[in-house]
Amino acid sequence: MLLRDFFIQLSENELLNSTAKKYGPKLGAQSVIAGTTIEETIASIKELNTHNISCTIDNLGEFVSSEIEATQAKEQILAVIEAIHENAVDAHISLKPSHLGLDIDVDFCYDNLYEIVEKAAAYDIFVNFDMENYDRLQTSFDMVEELAKTFDNVGTVIQAYFYRAKDDIEKFKNQRLRIVKGAYKEPVEIAFQDKLDIDLNFIELIEYHLLNGKFTSIATHDHNVIAHVKRFVADNNIPNDKFEFQMLYGFRTDMQKALAKEGYNFCVYVPFGEDWYGYFMRRLAERPQNINLVTKKVFTKKTNTVLAVAAGAFVLGRLTKRNK
Ligand SMILES: Cc1cc2nc3c(=O)[nH]c(=O)nc-3n(C[C@H](O)[C@H](O)[C@H](O)COP(=O)(O)OP(=O)(O)OC[C@H]3O[C@@H](n4cnc5c(N)ncnc54)[C@H](O)[C@@H]3O)c2cc1C
Repeated sequence: MLLRDFFIQLSENELLNSTAKKYGPKLGAQSVIAGTTIEETIASIKELNTHNISCTIDNLGEFVSSEIEATQAKEQILAVIEAIHENAVDAHISLKPSHLGLDIDVDFCYDNLYEIVEKAAAYDIFVNFDMENYDRLQTSFDMVEELAKTFDNVGTVIQAYFYRAKDDIEKFKNQRLRIVKGAYKEPVEIAFQDKLDIDLNFIELIEYHLLNGKFTSIATHDHNVIAHVKRFVADNNIPNDKFEFQMLYGFRTDMQKALAKEGYNFCVYVPFGEDWYGYFMRRLAERPQNINLVTKKVFTKKTNTVLAVAAGAFVLGRLTKRNK
């Protein structure tokens, strides 16, 4: 648990985030991001498509605090939509409301989201709203709900660690949904802490939405959950076109290809761009062994220095908190 906290705190550290951006993929995130440009990303997607794997593209970035940055993010996502259309690849969009200005001004953020969803709708491209931490949850859900009144190409994510997840899934039962365990650190007052509780709720939510008949994206690397879902859909005659499995780019790639080969719809979450730091730290929080995805050559003197600074910042953060 301590290690998880460590990486989650790192994921939220702004100084380290900007340092990581500066050094870019040299620090070794290249095995878990598809590239830094749209061209590189489209090339990765074309390759995945040849294995019958579709993609959801995430232009990396979150928690932006200036309108300029949020507008740049919007422009970039609009360009990705154009690229999906032009290249006729099998892909859709995933985005984070905080990347589009949620923390700056809700109306400004909504206008950005509207523009994105409207353009995507014109090309029949689906837009998924990733869900972030609890503070941003309700506002993000409200925006999804509002957009869904006009567009039918929007969906969102239900995080199984929240006690309220069952109410949320009921509310969004007519929507295409991705169901996940949940990636942020949330307090016991609002979220399950125990892995078993989270796993049980995760399964319940997946079963509920599958039985509802709306499209369900089961986003997990957990082979036990995947095995359970395979049995459940077979027992309940749920056709393959009503659900898909999703995994993150670069994780369990053999299993990804195997599931696609077995005839299941499979979608890879493809992050791209320079703002990979928070994303990557959350992956380490989930599973510290993920560090193995980073090649040995990454551990240069430079990387070690950055990691040492990171560890120092963490310890300092803890001490400062204790002194407050
Ligand atoms: C496509 C996708 C989209 C997501 N979107 C969101 C989002 O919008 N909001 C959000 O909060 N979270 C999101 N997440 C993250 C999610 O909430 C979890 O934090 C993350 O997926 C880790 O949980 P897990 O279900 O993969 O399994 P875990 O609980 O991490 O792992 C369960 C078991 O699976 C095995 N395992 C897991 N990973 C590996 C591996 N790489 N190699 C070998 N064995 C492995 C291990 O045996 C492990 O004990 C997303 C995840 C995915 C895959």
